[in-house]
Amino acid sequence: MNAADVSVALFNRPLLQAHTQPLHGRSLLAGPLLSKDAADPVIRSVGAASLDKLCGRWAHWLASDARIRYCRDCMRHGFQSVVHQLDGIASCPLHGTPLMDRCSGCGSPTAPYAVTEATLDMPFCCYECSHPISEVWLTLKLFRSKDLPFDERPFAAMMGWLKQLGILQIEWPEIAAWHPSSEGEPDSPSARRAVFSVLSSLVPLPLDLPRTSPVRVLARGPSADRFRRLLPAYDEDAHQQLGAIYKSIRRHVHRRLRKISPGLSRKGIDLDLFGWDTMAPLPQSRGSQSGAHAWLIWRKRFEQEFYLSGSTHNDFSVTSPRRLLLRPEVLSWPVAWAARPAEWGQFVWQCFVADLESARGWSRAIEALPPLPRYGQRSDEQQRAWTQFSATYSMWAPRLNPEIRRWPRSLSQLAWTDATTGSKELLLVGPATQVDTPHEAIQPT
Ligand SMILES: [Zn+2]
Ligand SMILES: [Zn+2]
Repeated sequence: MNAADVSVALFNRPLLQAHTQPLHGRSLLAGPLLSKDAADPVIRSVGAASLDKLCGRWAHWLASDARIRYCRDCMRHGFQSVVHQLDGIASCPLHGTPLMDRCSGCGSPTAPYAVTEATLDMPFCCYECSHPISEVWLTLKLFRSKDLPFDERPFAAMMGWLKQLGILQIEWPEIAAWHPSSEGEPDSPSARRAVFSVLSSLVPLPLDLPRTSPVRVLARGPSADRFRRLLPAYDEDAHQQLGAIYKSIRRHVHRRLRKISPGLSRKGIDLDLFGWDTMAPLPQSRGSQSGAHAWLIWRKRFEQEFYLSGSTHNDFSVTSPRRLLLRPEVLSWPVAWAARPAEWGQFVWQCFVADLESARGWSRAIEALPPLPRYGQRSDEQQRAWTQFSATYSMWAPRLNPEIRRWPRSLSQLAWTDATTGSKELLLVGPATQVDTPHEAIQPT
């Protein structure tokens, strides 16, 4: 059978020529269109073993069909598993061999994990240079090694894990916008590795696989039902308690920041600013001002009446009203559920750590730019520098300006219900680089 025949047998539809996102229209990964009642038993078994049959909607969040991923040792047996497509797995569960998604001859990406001419008309060969993706493929050695015993247990164990995910009760409304690294994009391999990492903290992996994603659960605690807020707007006591937690963390952060950040003093902030964009301050100098910059972003995120006033050219004082007013959005975090003060305090602290990461990222980003003229006539070259600066800022704006995104994109929350106990837990997840807060910092004082 060539690709055209396989497509008709599996999908009852002809081959497609274009690859569409997120899944190819003839994907082997997750196929609502895969034919379930094909006459050929091999074809039927392919349809029954697709990833979405195993773990439902998670298929799309854990794996991609853009390239076939393979283990060179499994290839000696002509074997490739859907488990190899999981981005959270960096090496073969059986052999420990690093998984590949490129031709070992010319380095071209492998064909899509879908029914296409590139994938099937020369199976397991590079469609650019025809080099077999394993040296033994298409040789007599393959037929000999096919008879060797092959241990499928690790793959069966992983499929069992995927099936458990399929029945897990998780609500994760923010998943599409979440990316734990400040530079990465959602719907990228690193985002899929992060989702894998979080899910494996809920359902432990059956195998001891090397961890591939620097992501972790930052806080975890019981949660009330969806939309039943712990803190209705009129609950003055509860708001005061959260305000006290915030102030306590703010004191702690300020003490630590003053030691590392020369721009921050007891009285004010010494910052060389490019300017403001809807209340987002942009420091001009590189490196040493990141601490003070993060301090501004973070306070703007939480405090309703927080602003900077500049007296001289680069000397600013922070105006705090006598009575702290937290912004309603942060008071009602997480939006869909209710969190205890302990988890809320973790959220406050982790926002600061994420803002510090963003401020440092911004500092690195402007380091690469040509120096900017500030006033007066601009030459063409200076105009280009400004254009470059604006383009860089528009990329960073959602991370630097709390008016655009309420909380850092690297943090996300989800709720899951334990099937046996029925209890609901709330999880705050984010980069593993996030630092734990000392316990006393989140105690109200
Ligand atoms: Zn292998
Ligand atoms: Zn090649």
